[in-house]
Amino acid sequence: MTSILAHYSEIALKGKNRPWFIGRLVRHLHMALAGLSVKEIRTPMGRIEVVLGREATAGEIRERMSRVFGIANYSVATRVPLDFDGMAEAIVSRLPPRESVSSFRVWVRRADQQFAVLSPDLARDLGSKVWHARGWKVDLDHAELVISLEIVPGQAYLYMNKEPGPGGLPTGTAGRVTALLSGGIDSPVAAWRMMKRGCHVTFVHFHSAPFLSNVSQEKARRLAAVLTRYQLRSRLFMVPFGELQRQVTLSVPGELRVVIYRRFMMRIAERIARDVRAKALVTGDVIGQVASQTLDNIAATDSATRLPIFRPLVGMDKEEIMAQAQRLGTFEISIEPDEDTCTLFTPRHPETHARRHQIDEVEAILPVADMVKDAAARTVVEHLRYPSSLSSA
Ligand code: ATP
Ligand code: MG
Repeated sequence: MTSILAHYSEIALKGKNRPWFIGRLVRHLHMALAGLSVKEIRTPMGRIEVVLGREATAGEIRERMSRVFGIANYSVATRVPLDFDGMAEAIVSRLPPRESVSSFRVWVRRADQQFAVLSPDLARDLGSKVWHARGWKVDLDHAELVISLEIVPGQAYLYMNKEPGPGGLPTGTAGRVTALLSGGIDSPVAAWRMMKRGCHVTFVHFHSAPFLSNVSQEKARRLAAVLTRYQLRSRLFMVPFGELQRQVTLSVPGELRVVIYRRFMMRIAERIARDVRAKALVTGDVIGQVASQTLDNIAATDSATRLPIFRPLVGMDKEEIMAQAQRLGTFEISIEPDEDTCTLFTPRHPETHARRHQIDEVEAILPVADMVKDAAARTVVEHLRYPSSLSSA
């Protein structure tokens, strides 16, 4: 019988909440693997076993598992009997051809201490069988092929290649956050980092249609779709922002507009967050990257909301963020040409040190609450699902 044997990141899952974390992880795995031939998901002794059906394509299942947060590593495994000859036979019959490998080792872990033979002895004796069959060199430190055997009560799992999982914490275990998703490079990476820490992310995108094109909305939609492959269900709130911006231009001096727009974004995002029961906001801000990201302007933005604002990229360099975006698959979408909402009705040299009294003065003459209410009322929510074949279900 073929399975995928996965290990979760132990340290994070310790303590009395451990069964709850594992339950969430298993539930998420069921959803992530929906539509594939999976018979059962079991949790033997600190491991997760995905038992595959006949029609299962291990490649597709591994692909999906590579995006399930909470999984430290996984491998395609076979259940083998708990006797030495049975194990040896199972291993030898699955060895790759002689020429494809030059060194190997056998690695044994016993979660079942009742199994009489000690792990090092078993590894050595099985290794000797492999050596007789193939003649490869034994290398305990840098073996090309690691033959692994994990013994749990009643049976053992045999596997030959371990693949790294995405790590992190199972989706949803940390609660919900609301991420401000632009069409740029940074915000999708910021949202992903929160997802990795177990947060379920709701997306908010501000667009300036019909003043500007629909391109930014389409980009946000595609970015959200890439990110949804990790959390499987997402909501994307599309907020029309152009009318509010036009109103701001009537009384707010050019240099202050970017900070004022940002403060409105925070207020509207806070409203959405409260509706979806999210406990924090997330942005892709990085210290010093652009005018709106000076310490003064970040502080001015924060004071518009009472929710905590998380900026997981705040101390990263652009190169590091770009590399992460490339691995994630958002980079190519983000760099497509677009018209940035915040450049609408703004001068080329915005204020980099907005002061409290300046902001209070200009906001005093704006009907702030009504503007927020109006934009929120015209917001449209879109639902995303992965795998998308289930979207009609
Ligand atoms: P990004 O690549 O994420 O767009 P950026 O370097 O272009 O970042 P800014 O345009 O100053 O920086 O935006 C800072 C943050 O504000 C973004 O990371 C995002 O979280 C939020 N933000 C900016 N514009 C929008 C928008 N139109 N819709 C939603 N969020 C936005
Ligand atoms: Mg941007």
